[in-house]
Amino acid sequence: MTEQQIRGSMSNCSRGDAKSMTLPRELDLLDWAGLDFLGWRDPRAPLRGYLVMWRDGRAVGVQLRAAESKMSRRVSAMCSLCRTSQPGNNVSLFAARRAGQSGRDGNTVGTYICADLACCRNARMVKPTASVHPAPGLTVEQRVDGLLARADSFVAEVLGSAPVHG
Ligand SMILES: [Zn+2]
Repeated sequence: MTEQQIRGSMSNCSRGDAKSMTLPRELDLLDWAGLDFLGWRDPRAPLRGYLVMWRDGRAVGVQLRAAESKMSRRVSAMCSLCRTSQPGNNVSLFAARRAGQSGRDGNTVGTYICADLACCRNARMVKPTASVHPAPGLTVEQRVDGLLARADSFVAEVLGSAPVHG
């Protein structure tokens, strides 16, 4: 994905927002093969995050806003996209404004996602650590398939359209 594709992909924010968002550095050096979607937090807008994925040959992006309150590190929480269990402070509640009129009317879709939006890396984790456990009983391939399908349903819900993957 190029900078232009990413900025042009944003489905649920204003053109001004899409123009002002801070992109990940060195896009051309990313390991695209290991990314089911591009997810990142905006270093200049601390509660903002973005998720961009290919759907039907087109890049579709969603702007997210993290809740200000964080869960405790002492509780275990699960990301609803990659299903990795991890300390609560590594998972955030994100709200995405729905695309179109519904979003302008104030409707959002909320879900718990890895706070750093690095689900693609977590789903590929081979060995659990003391506090981070990928979904048990699944191969990496199954985890990646599940992640892609769930990310796609999430984006579909924001767009108010049907899922295209999974
Ligand atoms: Zn995740």
